[in-house]
Amino acid sequence: MFTAIETLEREAVFLDRDGVIIENCDNYVRSWDDVDILPGALDALVRLAESHYKVFIVTNQAGVGKGLIPVDVAHGINTRLIDIIHNHGGRVDAATICPHRNEDACGCRKPEPGMLLNFADRFDINLNNSWMIGDAVTDIQAGLAAGTKPLLVQTGRGTTQEAMLSDHQLDETPVFADLEDAVSFLLSQNA
Ligand SMILES: [Mg+2]
Ligand SMILES: [Zn+2]
Repeated sequence: MFTAIETLEREAVFLDRDGVIIENCDNYVRSWDDVDILPGALDALVRLAESHYKVFIVTNQAGVGKGLIPVDVAHGINTRLIDIIHNHGGRVDAATICPHRNEDACGCRKPEPGMLLNFADRFDINLNNSWMIGDAVTDIQAGLAAGTKPLLVQTGRGTTQEAMLSDHQLDETPVFADLEDAVSFLLSQNA
């Protein structure tokens, strides 16, 4: 007789918000009026919800630090978005924002990995088996710095950012048309 103790690997998909789940706004998503959910994003989140992955949103919101967006409004946009995702059958386990400006030199503003590391610590996530999906070089850099496998999407700023990958020695980054394609890819890697 023996007792098998199964070790469940906890893995995650970290998602940038603007340009990945909702349209990017050049001048910040300042209110719910600015929110425009990208085609297919909700369905992609349903597929993730049906997988074993934890799902986290990690978003830079320097507009908060610049005084353009009240912090409760920024969190409120996430809450309302997550309600819609959940009503559609998707799941977001947690969302966080970095409210700082670039010059604040914080540890959470992407390309820094702070938001990812914080969730990994709180939820006991194996980062090496986790993914980061973003539409910017800084998302890719944050994903790598945290030890995840980063994927770029061409929505939002993605197309222009894709052209900058080689300048940052990030040519190896897999690039996908949108969140649906990126999710299809990562789910196929774990079959
Ligand atoms: Mg973005
Ligand atoms: Zn920060």
